[in-house]
Amino acid sequence: MLVKVAIDLSLGKLFTYEVPENLKEKLAIGQLLSVPFGHREARGFAIELAQALPEHHNQDSFKLKPISAIVDEVPFFSATLLKVAKMISAYLGAPIESVLKAALPAAVLKKNVKPRELIFIEPKFSLLPVKLTERQQWLYDQIVRLGGGWMAQLIKELKTTNASLRELGAKGLINISVKERRRDPLSGKRFLPSKPLPLNDEQRAALNAIYGVQPSTSNLKPVLLYGVTGSGKTEVYLQAIAKELEAGKGAIVMVPEISLTPQTVQRFASRFGSKVAVLHSALSDGERYDEWHRIRAGEARVVIGPRSAVWAPVKNLGLIVVDEEHETSYKQDETPRYHARDVAVLRGHVEGARVVLGSATPSLESWHNVEIGKYVLAEMKQRAGKGTLPNIHLVDMKFERGGIFSRELLDAIKARLDRHEQTILFLNRRGYARSVSCPRCGYVFECEDCGVPFTYHQSDNCLRCHICGGWQETPSECPECKEKILDMKGIGTQRAEAALKKCFKEARVLRMDADSTSRKYSHDDILGAFRRHEADILIGTQMIAKGLDFPNVTLVGVLNADSSLNLPDFRAAERTYQLLSQVAGRAGRAELPGEVFVQSLDPSVNVLRSVLKGDFSAFAKEELADRKAASFPPFTHLALINMRSQDLNKLAAWAQMYAESLRNSSKELMVSDAISSPLEKAEGYYRYQIVVRSENPRLVTAAWKAISEKREPPKSILVSLDLDAYNMI
Ligand code: ADP
Ligand code: ZN
Repeated sequence: MLVKVAIDLSLGKLFTYEVPENLKEKLAIGQLLSVPFGHREARGFAIELAQALPEHHNQDSFKLKPISAIVDEVPFFSATLLKVAKMISAYLGAPIESVLKAALPAAVLKKNVKPRELIFIEPKFSLLPVKLTERQQWLYDQIVRLGGGWMAQLIKELKTTNASLRELGAKGLINISVKERRRDPLSGKRFLPSKPLPLNDEQRAALNAIYGVQPSTSNLKPVLLYGVTGSGKTEVYLQAIAKELEAGKGAIVMVPEISLTPQTVQRFASRFGSKVAVLHSALSDGERYDEWHRIRAGEARVVIGPRSAVWAPVKNLGLIVVDEEHETSYKQDETPRYHARDVAVLRGHVEGARVVLGSATPSLESWHNVEIGKYVLAEMKQRAGKGTLPNIHLVDMKFERGGIFSRELLDAIKARLDRHEQTILFLNRRGYARSVSCPRCGYVFECEDCGVPFTYHQSDNCLRCHICGGWQETPSECPECKEKILDMKGIGTQRAEAALKKCFKEARVLRMDADSTSRKYSHDDILGAFRRHEADILIGTQMIAKGLDFPNVTLVGVLNADSSLNLPDFRAAERTYQLLSQVAGRAGRAELPGEVFVQSLDPSVNVLRSVLKGDFSAFAKEELADRKAASFPPFTHLALINMRSQDLNKLAAWAQMYAESLRNSSKELMVSDAISSPLEKAEGYYRYQIVVRSENPRLVTAAWKAISEKREPPKSILVSLDLDAYNMI
């Protein structure tokens, strides 16, 4: 018997090994194996079993090496999950081992991460009489009463010592052994159990769409749950999961990393207790190792996590929920560039699991899939709790002469301060000013490595590059003309914060952006303080746009709605709609009605008008018509071929050649010219891109593969394929 193995860094090739007689019975695909590889031992996953090599290999002259060992007999990947991984690998043109690697928490494969072993004590019953002191007798009785426990805990609870326990052990009254104890990220936290709420009509209809009309598990359609913020989508997820658990099945709930807050986790843990496992980046290696093993062992049946949770080894998977399905963080920005929503849909299909995609502002891809009958739509238009949808006002900033806050917004903030209600202000740029330039000669301070303007940061008085993180001290004069007074253009969160403090001296202001949250947990600290009303105003970047539920917030201000509309991205309008609706959704979550002010230099644009009306379908209709006319997604698949090099001339020439070859390879591909990327230079590398579109994504991958094999790029040029690209920069 032979086995084909995927080994890290083997560039998509599978290596064939002999299976020794004594391992034949135990070997299964998906297992982690140890194999000889060159002069070393490597680890790899069993991908396929075969009886013999294909005919053209001469068995006599071709000597295969045997595998050395099966590292773990329990497969890391079930046959179905492995099938999904292979399909994704083929779709993206990414090596299978890269997909498998992305599918596992790194901690699971690290050699230095091991199960935690602790000392466990169990009472024994001695048949022979044993002489005990009074204190020893008491201790023994207590251990019998408790039925044993972890030594460290017993020492604490019974106020005893290691030595006293060992004495009982020596007398044969207790059994002292080493046992594995899972590290639990939720341990020490108490969750009040929560009961299912009686569903309202819209929620019941949504649950019926997920469970009622579908004929059989072999052709389940994903359900797009389009529900306004606060319509009670989470309650629908919770009750769907409860159904799965009752049927002995498991579920995965994906949420964007940024909304994976303790609050979110709490809602699931309160309902399902220790059946819940959490996977996210703030866990320690040990916790992640244990959570993953709890899932694989079937101890945890409900998994909550970001993008990578779509690969969780849940047994007997019944349901996958993708909350905020429009979020671009579901798309991985490095090889393998998979989109977790698409993987969820594929995995649901392969494993016969139901898939629910939830959003208040669905992606146009998913909306389109409803229109063509691939997905089923369930709609929830009303807020489920006490809240009502907020009133939205558009404010024209053309007449505000470069000010940060309009008169209307200032009045509204003042009214909130007077009424002891809270305000959230949203601004899409961190730092103080967008750029620093010379008013006399026009010189702009830029990062040399990236060619983008520096952002001024007031807190440490320096200029920072938001691309590479490079910085320099703020110069005291223009290097060209020696002008001493420099111009600060544009507004960042720091500047808005400073201006706000000037307007409202008595107001307590918190700021939340990448700069104020770099310390671990400060994210939760800031939100916790705001929730406890230790501040009146929270000002921040898109970090504050999502998933937060503050009952006392009745005002939201969007300071500069134009900034995301002007991005060089065909999804700019879609992103702006999503962002503004999400931000607006922060206001009026409870009894108090909410108000939203959206400031813009051009409030007449359609996106803003649709946001104002809260009319997603009108927006989608118009935007989809534009996309269709221009052959953009979702009517085509769009791929970016990204190239970078330190040598601009070589890069430009090579990119042209590459575009030419692509064009010649198939008439069905729409291939752009090779041009420099919107971000022309980053971290010292020049960047070029080719945009390839096709109705058939497989043609793109095929052409890419064929050309990469024919023309290997010079070492100085790095090329990558990003199929279904989201990051256009
Ligand atoms: P979404 O996930 O759609 O933003 P949530 O699930 O967070 O909405 O629900 C918003 C609020 O409404 C929450 O406070 C929730 O407890 C409440 N809620 C949800 N469903 C019901 C219901 N059927 N009856 C009463 N309150 C509900
Ligand atoms: Zn830079």
